[in-house]
Amino acid sequence: MITLAADFGGRRIKLGLVKDGRVLARQVLPANADQPLSTRLEAVADGLRGLCAEQRLTPANCGGVGFAYPSIVDARRARIMDHFGKFGDASQLDLRAWAMTTLGLPLAIDNDARMALIGEWQYGAGRGCNNLGVITLGTGLGASAVIEGRVLRGVHGQAGILGGHLTVRYGGRQCVCGNLGCAEAEGSTWMLDKLAREREDFDQSPLSREPRLDYAAVFRLAAMDDTCAKALRDHSLQIWSVTAVNLIHAYDPEKVVLCGGIMASADVIVPAVQAYVERCAHTPWGRVEVVPSALGDDAALLACEWLWQEELGKTILCEET
Ligand SMILES: [Zn+2]
Repeated sequence: MITLAADFGGRRIKLGLVKDGRVLARQVLPANADQPLSTRLEAVADGLRGLCAEQRLTPANCGGVGFAYPSIVDARRARIMDHFGKFGDASQLDLRAWAMTTLGLPLAIDNDARMALIGEWQYGAGRGCNNLGVITLGTGLGASAVIEGRVLRGVHGQAGILGGHLTVRYGGRQCVCGNLGCAEAEGSTWMLDKLAREREDFDQSPLSREPRLDYAAVFRLAAMDDTCAKALRDHSLQIWSVTAVNLIHAYDPEKVVLCGGIMASADVIVPAVQAYVERCAHTPWGRVEVVPSALGDDAALLACEWLWQEELGKTILCEET
């Protein structure tokens, strides 16, 4: 049975047709996250229908819809709990009703970092681990955990995913969540411009002349020995490493998988985080392995199939009968 999958991000919405752990077809839409989600869902439905048509299918030939969404998500009710400034009306929408009306299919949805975790756990770098942690390094910092073979969710869907909002610096920078000194406020793409401009050597750095100030530019210029870029890189590696130790202390995983767009620089990030974890995490039984994502952007799309089929699909079917 084919799953229609959508992974919502701040800049892009990735669509896919998924079957048996493989992405059969894919498409990327601009997120246009300043628009209401109800508006963007029209483009998502059109895109999914288009992918079906490419495969000589219609949604009626498919089994369900899965969404990965960048917010706190109540997966049991398929409701988005907060909009965090993106897709403004997201928390008001009944997505199950939308999917049934628009595509004639049941829908399951979960947080995007949790979906990356499910993808890596079922099909990627975390296969075979019953205890697994994931950190997503992207526009923000996400986290999630599988404990004893179960995805950690909690009462409101918040458990495990706020790893980017654990305090790494007492009295630190103001975060969007209301807290001070969150990992996300101290080292993520949305804070990078501010972090860079706070430095006195920024105006003299080639970083200030980059058309796009992102971590790809930071890692590239740091490798060329630019002082400002090196300081930003090393600061951010510290923040992500501290986040990994926090995650290990909280969830006792066998392995930590690092995912997200910033992992284009995995060759620098993985050894740095691994070395810090070995030095600072309290794991008297031995070493927690830090590994890069095996699936990249496909992790959350593949998780859409698992989500509605293996877990929430059963709940939906039970409720309907
Ligand atoms: Zn925060």
